[in-house]
Parts: sequence; structure tokens; C-alpha cells
Amino acid sequence: MDYVTRAAGPDSDACVFCAALDPAALSPLLVCRGERSFVILNKYPYNNGHLMVVPARHVGRLADATPAELTEIITLARVSEMALTEAYRAHGINVGMNVGRAAGAGVRDHLHVHLVPRWDGDTNFMSVVGDTRVVPEEPAASVARLRPIFERLAGPVLGAGAAPSS
Ligand SMILES: [Zn+2]
Repeated sequence: MDYVTRAAGPDSDACVFCAALDPAALSPLLVCRGERSFVILNKYPYNNGHLMVVPARHVGRLADATPAELTEIITLARVSEMALTEAYRAHGINVGMNVGRAAGAGVRDHLHVHLVPRWDGDTNFMSVVGDTRVVPEEPAASVARLRPIFERLAGPVLGAGAAPSS
């Protein structure tokens, strides 16, 4: 998890998550957009299919997120779990977040929930290869694989979860 905590990118004044939604330059790593949050592929993946669910608003703490945002974030985490299970036959998924720099957040002022697919035996495999990451799939291929699954799975639940702002 030490790597995962830094996996969102190097510290920078520019917020990579806010930049991802720039209408003039939408991130090619976006896999799903909701009303209040989105799902994006990690540019520095720990595993194939390493996703992050992120509120559209630049908020750094759960305390600053609205109930509607929190509902949509966990709903998209649920869809992400389903999508990763379908696309990558994940046996399990690490779901977690680091709030604040002291906790290891790579992007420290913008909440994000990591979802890292795992497979039986991959821990042993990773310990064998040590610090070497083995990520054979190109990010563009991951996005192309995941987008249609998200379109199918997220549409209905986002509609149901689109409660009036609180
Ligand atoms: Zn931001």
C-alpha cells in the first residue's frame, strides 16, 4: 500500500483531478462521469485496472463533502467493483483512501478512493518481483475495456442516485 498511497502522482500545485475535468482537455483516463463525481484510471497504476473515484468538487476531507457527493462516490465505487470484477476477473479489490498529506495522499487536497483489483496469489507474485511493477496493459487499453462496462452499469444507478443536492 505504500506505493498506492503515492500512486496518484507527484505533489504539485496543480490539482490533477480538477485538471482531468477541464472541458478544453478532458483526461483520456476518464472512464465514467457522474453528476457529482467521476471515475478515472490511475496514471501510475499499482495493478491493471487501478481506478480512483473522485468528487468533481475540489474537497480534501470527507467532512467537506456533501451527503449527495458521498452517496454518489460510494455508488461509483460499487460500480467500479462490479466493472473490475467483470473486466479483469478480479478475485478481490483493495478499496481505500488517504485523507491528507500526513496519511499519504498523493493528491492531498482532493479526495479520491482507490480501487485496486487483486488476484489470488498476486501478493506472492509481487513479493517475488520486489519493487518491479508488472503492468502489461497500456492505460488506453484499460480505458477502452472499462468504458463500455461502466456505461452499461453506471447509467441506471447514477439515475437512481441523483438525489437533489443537500
Ligand atoms: Zn482538485
